[in-house]
This record gives sequence, C-alpha cells and structure tokens, in this order.
Amino acid sequence: MTLAVIKFGGTSVGDARAMRQSAQIVRSAVEKFDHIIVVTSAMGKSPDPRDQVKVTDTLINAARSAADGDGEFFHKAKRQLADKHLTAIDGAVDNPEDRRRIAEEIDRLLDGFETLCASVRVLGEVTPRALDAISGLGERIAARILAGALRSVGVNAESIDATEIVVTDDRFQAAAPLMDETRERTHTVLHRMLDRGVVPVVTGFIGATRTGVPTTLGRGGSDYSASIIAAAMDATDVFNYTDVNGVLSTDPRIAPDARTIDRLTAQEMSEMAYYGASVLHPMTIAPLIERNIPLRVKNTFNPDHPGTLIVHDSYIEGAHALKAVTTVREVSVITVTGRGMKGVPGIAARTFTAVARTGTSVLMFSQASAETNICLVVPRASTARVKSELQSEMAGEISRHEIDEVTSFDEASIITVVGQGISDTPGVSGRVFGALGNAGINVYAIAQGSSECSISMVVGDKVCDDAVRAVHQLTLH
Ligand code: ASP
Ligand code: MG
Repeated sequence: MTLAVIKFGGTSVGDARAMRQSAQIVRSAVEKFDHIIVVTSAMGKSPDPRDQVKVTDTLINAARSAADGDGEFFHKAKRQLADKHLTAIDGAVDNPEDRRRIAEEIDRLLDGFETLCASVRVLGEVTPRALDAISGLGERIAARILAGALRSVGVNAESIDATEIVVTDDRFQAAAPLMDETRERTHTVLHRMLDRGVVPVVTGFIGATRTGVPTTLGRGGSDYSASIIAAAMDATDVFNYTDVNGVLSTDPRIAPDARTIDRLTAQEMSEMAYYGASVLHPMTIAPLIERNIPLRVKNTFNPDHPGTLIVHDSYIEGAHALKAVTTVREVSVITVTGRGMKGVPGIAARTFTAVARTGTSVLMFSQASAETNICLVVPRASTARVKSELQSEMAGEISRHEIDEVTSFDEASIITVVGQGISDTPGVSGRVFGALGNAGINVYAIAQGSSECSISMVVGDKVCDDAVRAVHQLTLH
C-alpha cells in the first residue's frame, strides 16, 4: 500500500495557472500511488509580476495595522484578498456551481477576517492567539480553491481544515503538535475520506489546541504540517513542491554556480534548514526520521526535474564531502570575558539561564579552554536584551572585576558548510579554513554541529558573500 503526501508551497498555488499546474501534478500522482493526501500553503505571489500579493503576509500586516489603530487598511486588505482569491477561482475551477459555492465560503471566511481585525482595532493590541486565528485564514481559503481545481481535472478532492486533525499545544505562533492525539484524529478523519476514494486537501500551517482554539506552527509551517500528517498516516512518500529545482547548494544570487543537490541525508537537511536554508521549515525533517519516510523537494514549474531526495541513511556512498553552504545574516557575537571566570563553577550555566530568560535561541556557543571567555552568537534583534540581561546577572562579578565586561560584535553573519563527509573525511575542515584564508577572510568564531555534519563560522557582514563563494567552490569538487 503506497500513500503519498504532496505539499504545495505558496507560489505553487499563487494564481489560477499555478493551481492548475499543481492539480495536474496530483492527477498524475493518483495513477502512481494507492492513496494521495494534498497539503497546501496559502496563496503566495503569482508567477505573474502584476500580482505580488502574498496572502499570509497581507493577513498579518492587516492585523498589526488594526492593532495600531488603523481603521482603513484591513478593509483594503479584504478587498485585495477577495480579488486575488476570486480571480483564482474563476481561472482554476470549471464547474459554475462549484465556483459559486467556494466563492461563498471564501466570502464568509473573509467576513470573519474583517470582524477579527475590527475587534483587534478596538482592543488596540493583537495577541498571539488572535494573530493565529487571522494568519491561518489563507490556508483555509487556498485548500477550498485547490480542491475545486482538482475536481476540475477529474480528481475527487475535498478540502479539510487541519484544525480538525492536527492537535497542538497552546504556544500560539509556534505551536508544537501533540503527536499521539494528532495521529489518532488524522487517522480516523483522513482514512474515512480515503476509504470513500477522496483525495483530502489539508490546510498546512494550522492546527488547534485540545479545546479547539486555532494555532499556527510558525511562519513557513506548511512543510512541517505535511510531515506531521505523513508521520501520522505512515505515508510511504512525501513530495514538497516549491518553485525551485530542489535544494540548492547555496543561494544562486550569491554564487551563480549553485546547483541542485541530488541527495541529502535527513541530518544534513536539518542542519541546513536550521542554519538558514529557506527551502524547508526547520522542523520538517523531524517527524519523518522516526518513520523513515523519504522526502523529495521538487519544482512545480519544472516537474520533470528530479529535484532533491532526502533520505535517512546516515551515509551516502560516493557523495561529496561538502554539499551546501548556508548563511544566517545579522547576528551578534556576545562575549563574556574575565580572568576571574577561570575555574568558577556555574558561570556557563548562569550565562545560559540569563539568555533563556530573554527567550532568545542561541545559534552558536563556544567556551575557550582557558575558561576566560564564553561566546554566544544570537540574532541581532535580540542583542540588546541579551546583553543587558547578562550584565545584570553578572553585576556582582563585574563589580569585583572577575568579569571585565559583556561585549558584542554586531556586524556579523554565520556561514555554515554542510556535508556528512565532515566527520569522516580527514582534512575537510582544513580545506574550509584554507579557502577562507586564501580569500583573506577573518573568522571570529567556529562551531562544529553536534552531528558532525556541519561547520559554522562567524564572519563580518561585509565579507559574507565572498566567504560563501570561497567555501561553495569546495562543494563543486
Ligand atoms: N502560509 C504560511 C506562511 O506564509 C505557511 C507556509 O506557507 O508554509 O508562513
Ligand atoms: Mg515554505
């Protein structure tokens, strides 16, 4: 029994033409697999340059401006969204009765959007909970239209809101799935549909708490939805359709010789996503690892291209030692230094606890073996908060001159080179540093991923692109 989960990203459903293209992809898959489940993002920008409206962004901007007291923008946003979606229905759904019914449902959802924004405006604030209710509307609308587009090409599809099947905790804006409950509900509801010969079109990005309050999995979360559903259903294959030919070895705007990576291990992909590769939500791989489900990243607009296959073997025979280079821009290196730290237990623990209080996630960390400094790399948006929290935590040590100061270097970026070969090919890190040295690039901090399949280095913002090009060369041989 084969079951494929096919996920479409925002541009793959960005307008009627894209939806029709995605519908054709599903239609051919229906012939190859026993069962298909489709997962969709909200409509993103259209391949047509005249329509650059990204639905989720528009919903969020409207909610925020309403919270700031703007009484106009959300009405304007509603008209813009109605326009985009109605145009898509007209172009992608053939049956007039189907068109009318979907348009009506969308009207109702958009009226709900307007009411929510009006209340946000009265309250003068948008809570994470309200933001989740509003920002998740794009997927609900897109799933209905995509199901209509599928019926138009002869696929018996029905939309379903993930609020009915994906059960999450209540961390609004970044909810985590409760897998046991999700599995149970997904199984019951989706099998009921599959048994009737229906292809379910599930909303990505959203879920609901045990008590039914809508949540979202965080921006870009539809990828994660697809793998949560795949794991819950014991799928045999996951396809992630996007608008590029799979996972690229680096950003082609920086290095024009960037190319598609044929195969990646799950570990490599996780590392890449964590360190800035924007193709997949960083959590996407996790639910698939446990059940050994392969994931293929493919291009909706070039479906014959094989894309990238992500598999779960720990080592891929004959693969390049180094496969990809990613970047995280705008970070700061925060350093706590002082001779008085040497041999004093608990400084590292207190440092982390202080940082945790600010809600910041630390991207890299290192402690010199002489124990006279600890260095943390954090997103620049958090720098001020982290520094002041550390200063107050260490106030005693600072006043006794055991710690000199908490300083930061703010014009920094992280570049990460990923490849399973880093752990088992001697001399790989030497080549990486050699390439940077030859390009005259100074490295401020280094960390090797715990899985030993990545090395991350902090370099100056201004030389980051040069650093990417220098290291990317090594992935080509
Ligand atoms: N529509 C959501 C976003 O823009 C989720 C997704 O597309 O993956 O973040
Ligand atoms: Mg995405």
